[in-house]
Amino acid sequence: MTPVAATTPEIDAEAVAAELEDKGAGEAIEWMFETFGESHYIACSFQKTSSVTAHLASRINPEARFFYLDTEVLFEQTYETRDRLAEALGVEFDRFHDLTIAEQAARHGDELWKSDPDACCGLRKVEPMRRALRELAVGTWFAGLRRNQTESRAQIPFLEWSGGRWKVHPIAEWADRDVHRYLTKHHLPYHPLWEKGYVSIGDHHSTKPIHEVATLEETRFFGLKRECGIHEINLGDL
Ligand code: SF4
Repeated sequence: MTPVAATTPEIDAEAVAAELEDKGAGEAIEWMFETFGESHYIACSFQKTSSVTAHLASRINPEARFFYLDTEVLFEQTYETRDRLAEALGVEFDRFHDLTIAEQAARHGDELWKSDPDACCGLRKVEPMRRALRELAVGTWFAGLRRNQTESRAQIPFLEWSGGRWKVHPIAEWADRDVHRYLTKHHLPYHPLWEKGYVSIGDHHSTKPIHEVATLEETRFFGLKRECGIHEINLGDL
């Protein structure tokens, strides 16, 4: 099959989703590589779902490449998970990063994550993500978002046309138990803070375990917001 460009809108997303959602994540990722070609550059956050999606993608397409956004304020266990996963899968995770913390403080003031978390995420996450997507000839945008994570993700489609490019969410319908079964079955390393109540793990300034807060939403960004902005990047504006 000749691959089509991920920027080609002529795909019936509803029909594809209806066909693939019942078949499982592996078939969905195979479909993605067959349809859009193998030049994908896959983002990893090193949360537990990254262990699943990176394993699936690297097994199906050994040429798949991976990257991560290093905000410099990730948990130490996140860097350890990166290294353990790289070794287990035999892959490399390319680092994308812009400002150091000192550079950010000099230009925008100390602890910007407290005074203006949107601006902080914009500098430390959204801009490096835009650069990764712009500089590298990515195919689709491939993400391990799941519908049962939060209300804001409850309607995530399996496949969506967003800002001029296709986005694929191959494990959108997975529950926590599905993730856990997959990790166990394949003996995959995963982020150790998950078992200490960290249901969503980002930067250490803005992540809390579930037993320290009242609601799931409050585990990230002090409950002030849920998303860091990278999933809202308009790919047509890169
Ligand atoms: S998660 Fe917090 S520290 Fe990290 S980039 Fe966003 S606001 Fe800044």
